Amino acid sequence: MNPSTEGQLIVKQQPVSQGRTDLRKRKPKRLAIINECCTGCAGSPACVEYCPVEACMFWIPDEDHAPFGRIEIDKTTCIGCARCTSKGPDGAFLEGCPWDAIEMVDTAQWEAEHGVELPDKPDQPVEQWMSVSQTHV
Ligand code: SF4
Ligand code: SF4
Repeated sequence: MNPSTEGQLIVKQQPVSQGRTDLRKRKPKRLAIINECCTGCAGSPACVEYCPVEACMFWIPDEDHAPFGRIEIDKTTCIGCARCTSKGPDGAFLEGCPWDAIEMVDTAQWEAEHGVELPDKPDQPVEQWMSVSQTHV
């Protein structure tokens, strides 16, 4: 088992996004996913600082190839704002991931594909946001 996981929980590692804890009022229509293009930016992810939500984006180390790893997204706290991506509406360029490694996807479709119903609001108290169920990543 990957040491960064404990049973069904993933313990988030630094760097972790820092921001607000009260932004998600309801389930967003779309949310961000990380695709296979994520290189981890050699341990200095360019995307994390753009996320306005506390502990939403976080580091997952590649235990077999330290210090490499990648970024993941907590789907229970993501508000779907797309600030982490480089693609804005109508072709606008945003200052997010420069490697096309983050995509915005339809939330209902993601839930159907993963057999998961995400909570409308974060389902853990803020003190527990540094871990997340594997099914919500
Ligand atoms: S999502 Fe993009 S910016 Fe973030 S670590 Fe991966 S490649 Fe780097
Ligand atoms: S869409 Fe917004 S809330 Fe979700 S991971 Fe990207 S920056 Fe964070």
